[in-house]
Amino acid sequence: MEQTISLKTPLQYLKGVGPERSKVLARLNLVTILDLLYFFPRRYENRLPVKLIGELVFEDKECVRGVVSSCGVMRLRTGQVILKVVISDGKSQMHGLWFNQAYLKKTFTPKSSVIFYGKAEKSGKQAQMVHPEYEIFPGDVPAQTVHTGRIAPIYPLTEDLAQKGIRQLVYRALEIFSSLLRDPLALSMKNRLDLPDRAWAIRQIHFPDEERNALSAYRRLVFDEFFMMQIVLEMKKAEYQKENRLMTHGDKKAQVEQFLTTLDFELTAGQEKAVWEIIADLQSGHVMNRLVQGDVGSGKTVVAAAALVFTAANGFQGALMAPTEVLAQQHYLKLSQFLEPLGIACGYLAQNLPAAEKEKILTRLADGSVDVVVGTHSLIQEGVRFKKLGLAVIDEQHKFGVFQRGALAKKGFESAHLLLMTATPIPRTLALTLYGDLDISIIGELPQGRQPVRTLWVTENRRQAMYALLDSFLAKGSQGYVLCPLIEFKGKEDVKSIFKAYEDLSQVLSHRKFGILHGKMKSDEKKKVMQEFKEKKIDVLISTVVIEVGIDVPNANIMIIENAEKFGLAQLHQLRGRVGRGAEESYCILFSEARGEDSIERLEAFTKTSSGFEIAEKDLSLRGGGDIVGEKQHGLPPLRIGDIVRDIAILELAKKEARKIVSVDPKLLAPQNRLVRRAVESRYGISSKTAALS
Ligand code: ADP
Ligand code: MG
Repeated sequence: MEQTISLKTPLQYLKGVGPERSKVLARLNLVTILDLLYFFPRRYENRLPVKLIGELVFEDKECVRGVVSSCGVMRLRTGQVILKVVISDGKSQMHGLWFNQAYLKKTFTPKSSVIFYGKAEKSGKQAQMVHPEYEIFPGDVPAQTVHTGRIAPIYPLTEDLAQKGIRQLVYRALEIFSSLLRDPLALSMKNRLDLPDRAWAIRQIHFPDEERNALSAYRRLVFDEFFMMQIVLEMKKAEYQKENRLMTHGDKKAQVEQFLTTLDFELTAGQEKAVWEIIADLQSGHVMNRLVQGDVGSGKTVVAAAALVFTAANGFQGALMAPTEVLAQQHYLKLSQFLEPLGIACGYLAQNLPAAEKEKILTRLADGSVDVVVGTHSLIQEGVRFKKLGLAVIDEQHKFGVFQRGALAKKGFESAHLLLMTATPIPRTLALTLYGDLDISIIGELPQGRQPVRTLWVTENRRQAMYALLDSFLAKGSQGYVLCPLIEFKGKEDVKSIFKAYEDLSQVLSHRKFGILHGKMKSDEKKKVMQEFKEKKIDVLISTVVIEVGIDVPNANIMIIENAEKFGLAQLHQLRGRVGRGAEESYCILFSEARGEDSIERLEAFTKTSSGFEIAEKDLSLRGGGDIVGEKQHGLPPLRIGDIVRDIAILELAKKEARKIVSVDPKLLAPQNRLVRRAVESRYGISSKTAALS
């Protein structure tokens, strides 16, 4: 059978890659020729100009050329073996020295041309380089070199893969295949936006002829990536915007007013504004797509509750989806406590519900006898049918791998109003660029009377003092959390497990009651423990990050975090948000013996600020944008090259261009968009006919 060669051909068929090497490459996710062409250098080294020996500046990194005149191996008394290669350029001589690499001898055959790249040194009067990078040519030095005498790419590596090896492979792949790269962008567009050709960009990002070429190649390739992503998002949007608008709510606000009077606090200005913005959306005749953004503890739940009340009052069903069972349970208890008295029937749905109960709730959702349902992922799984879903609320949206309506496009969620809630501050321009028509309500303040949580970073020698502090809180009736990175101890690493913490604490504070909570417990066990904690039958909850999001027990005012260096900054912020929910003074104590620079920077930043915005900014600067608002948020494959934060200007440009195209040709059926459609299909594996994204 004839093998047709294409960009999708497995790397194994590239000369120089056997089965063995293809395994190594696979570890870098390099499987096809195309993968290799899109495996970009981490940085470059300018290995120019190529000098004569007499021109070398000693102690500098230099490139030098010559012809091998001799090559010999010397054995020192120490047992070391030195390979000495003498090269000459007709005027002068120099040495290249290698220790314990005698096998290189056969590489440097006399009369071949070489280029060395390394630190030029002088030993006595003799010029030399120790372990230079080298490139050998049987005849003269050719016009095109790969490793030296050029701006050389430096790739990220894995074990068993040498820089020279991968560079050679990329070079070869480019020579053979780069002409097969077709350009999805129209010439007129490239000219207008000053973007180079795609194949040129791929060649230049690897082997730039000039430094600025690498930059313009980068810009072009980042543009491509964002452009395709934005095309998909715009297509999705076009898809749902043409759907029927059947969910327009009436004007029944009385129940909302009534609900608000049952609370034992006044809404903050931000909450108030958010509530009425949402209600206006629900009445507008357009499907709502709104994000409520407010720091941990700003009171987002009550805003969602008010919206759900309004929906129910207008004869629609509402759904509230939370990322964990523990949180869904809590929301359910709270909502039913407030909404049932108003005549709104509440229900709960999660994976681990007993079959009979599940059956019952599913029936009641379908026949409309449940008005508001709270649940986990289960809400968007097979078998869930609503009679008339008007509003879907997604709490802690960043925890779900979805943001796009498209991903919810099943189970009747697609035509419902959508309310997303998050504590992650995404800069507004970024949110708009990524999510298009999303409206945003910001709750900018915390409820009155909150004090910042006092945050201490301590080491092991303060442990007893910290236990005493914990005990003093318990003595005055407060409760506490102890957070551990592990459930059970495993391995030799010195990381505290919750079982170990339980053992220690129940010895030291034997007069207190401790409870354990972790993700591997059965749902009703979890439920029971949370219940006991809320009812103050448990003084201290020892847990893993299952309580990270949403948990609200205002009487808990002290938190100890073990091995705090194991947690990311955003995660620490969420965890700390579990305390300081009332007017009481509260503490967050970090135990950490961290020595690493990164950990120290993180923990220090964390003790200094309580602002979610500042923390997010710091997190961005420590981790880069991709992690925070990356693939998780838009639900698309990871970006290969661009960074949503760093490259925001290119992202905005790409968005604008994508919108232009999709607004005229929402399914990309026009001949001039054929290549764009192909590119989107092959990158995102979606067919533009359905444009289904999930
Ligand atoms: P988050 O925004 O983190 O989801 P919650 O909705 O869990 O915050 O609210 C945190 C705590 O603040 C809860 O105990 C809630 O009852 C309380 N709360 C919410 N709004 C107010 C307010 N306006 N005044 C006082 N307490 C409030
Ligand atoms: Mg919450």
